[in-house]
Amino acid sequence: MNIILLGPPGAGKGTQAKRLEERHGMVQLSTGDMLRAAIAAGTELGRRAKAIMDAGQLVSDDVMVGMIRERLGQPDVAKGFILDGFPRTVPQAEALDRMLAGIGKKLDRVIEMKVDDAALIDRVSGRFSCKKCGAAYHDRYNRPKREGVCDVCGGTEFQRRPDDNAETMKTRLAAYHSQTAPILPYYRERGLLATVDGMAEIDEVTRQLEAALKA
Ligand code: ADP
Ligand code: ADP
Ligand code: ZN
Repeated sequence: MNIILLGPPGAGKGTQAKRLEERHGMVQLSTGDMLRAAIAAGTELGRRAKAIMDAGQLVSDDVMVGMIRERLGQPDVAKGFILDGFPRTVPQAEALDRMLAGIGKKLDRVIEMKVDDAALIDRVSGRFSCKKCGAAYHDRYNRPKREGVCDVCGGTEFQRRPDDNAETMKTRLAAYHSQTAPILPYYRERGLLATVDGMAEIDEVTRQLEAALKA
């Protein structure tokens, strides 16, 4: 299956994508993670993207479409993919359709994860992740089972994103509502859209997602 998890920053896309990867052997394609890897590698693209990301704005469609095009060309995508963070604009959604048609693939489902803005600010403010494996945690909603130790890989170092603060979140939420939300009707018209209640507990969201994939 090839799916998109669509939702505002902090909706739980990454958390759920990791679970789908484990259960169904699909691969998570997170453009945010790809950009952060470029920043960590110190590439020219990473340098330019960092300023935009730290401001909470969107990186250009050209750059993002190029990044996804390259990733879709890799063989592991044959297991099925979960797009997390892409597309974020209507031009990106249109470019994705063209790319998929070109390589003989199609989207099976687009899942909207609905969460209130107030809850999103609370979620990103408490978000942290494992430095080694990237597993996502939250200060209150999703702490590691053993204090200071990653549930997934046993790592003991954690990190926070520079853009995960209430101030930058205002810009990121505005970008979501003005530039990303218009993608929803695009997929609804194509009969691909399903919506889950992203306000529910993490396990319940997973149940709703699984149901949406079976439907
Ligand atoms: P979140 O998980 O909070 O939704 P991401 O990790 O997906 O955030 O993205 C972090 C930042 O990377 C975004 O705020 C944006 O600047 C940039 N970015 C990621 N994906 C895209 C995209 N498809 N188009 C434009 N910018 C993107
Ligand atoms: P996204 O990838 O959409 O930006 P994440 O999966 O990183 O979102 O989740 C954002 C934060 O909220 C993380 O700290 C995560 O542990 C937490 N979180 C994810 N899903 C839920 C949920 N259903 N209820 C409460 N907290 C959640
Ligand atoms: Zn880990």
